[in-house]
Amino acid sequence: MKYSFGIDVGGTTVKCGLFDDGLSLLEKWELVTDKSEQGRHILEDIAASVAEKIKEKNLSAADIAGIGIGVPGPVLNQSVVRRCVNLGWGVFDARASFEKELEAVLKVKLPVFIENDANVAALGEALKGSGSSYKSLVMITLGTGVGGGVIIDGKIISGAGGAAGEIGHMTVLYDEQESCNCGKKGCLEQIASATGIVRYARRLLHETTEPSVLRKSDSDNTLSAKEVFEAFAGGDIIADRVVNTVCDYLALAISHITCIINPEAVVLGGGVSKAGQVLIDTVSQYYKKRAFAGCRDTDIIRAELGNDAGIYGAAALVGAP
Ligand code: ZN
Repeated sequence: MKYSFGIDVGGTTVKCGLFDDGLSLLEKWELVTDKSEQGRHILEDIAASVAEKIKEKNLSAADIAGIGIGVPGPVLNQSVVRRCVNLGWGVFDARASFEKELEAVLKVKLPVFIENDANVAALGEALKGSGSSYKSLVMITLGTGVGGGVIIDGKIISGAGGAAGEIGHMTVLYDEQESCNCGKKGCLEQIASATGIVRYARRLLHETTEPSVLRKSDSDNTLSAKEVFEAFAGGDIIADRVVNTVCDYLALAISHITCIINPEAVVLGGGVSKAGQVLIDTVSQYYKKRAFAGCRDTDIIRAELGNDAGIYGAAALVGAP
């Protein structure tokens, strides 16, 4: 029996998992992301934690097939990171750096694979989550931002510059005046992320005087995407307009993607997907109208693995052909 580690590096925590060779999660734990000094200690901390776990489990380095790591930025050839703003990282060979850190604590070299976190989460859902019965899928993660990943025949499509699947930055809002985090204007992320949903709800609340249960939290500055979906379920007029608009834009973006890739399924994950079936139903309803006839039967489903998708996918990199 060989084991692998799946690591998912986020801006606040580093999620870690120990897996067996059937990709079953044996144990998971978290580290705090140390972003001091441009994040230079992050890989060192992960290497120390991996070494500690190997020791704790009475394993040796020979029992470990490899370590997969998902990071929040574009990655070239599973090695070179091209800036991770959230971690303070610039452009560097993260695989070489991590191999060095690991060798320093374990005294042997182990195979290391680095990939973009959204791609890795998509791979996790494709192999062990709601996408496991499909050969091809596109995952869209609706969180603070909007991420995405494309999986065909169990493989991540990462693109020439490591930026394939950056679905959040497809332009859908042609008249948007505000800038997205990427510097562009009109990105899907600006309307379909948790932040985007709140931003759009606030815009509507300020433009009209219609009654809405959202007005109080707007003035308290506590308005959340979750609350918008709850108000939608309760029949609130403003929330109804927000949710319908958001789902229509999502459907529009999905219809563009399916025209190119024609995947069997589109998986929606991230915090916003906790809105549940209502999100799936509303997006599906708009999708049927937006989609090219040949792609209209694409299944739109919810992700299942939640925050664990990243560690599953990262561990799967180790065994990927
Ligand atoms: Zn953008």
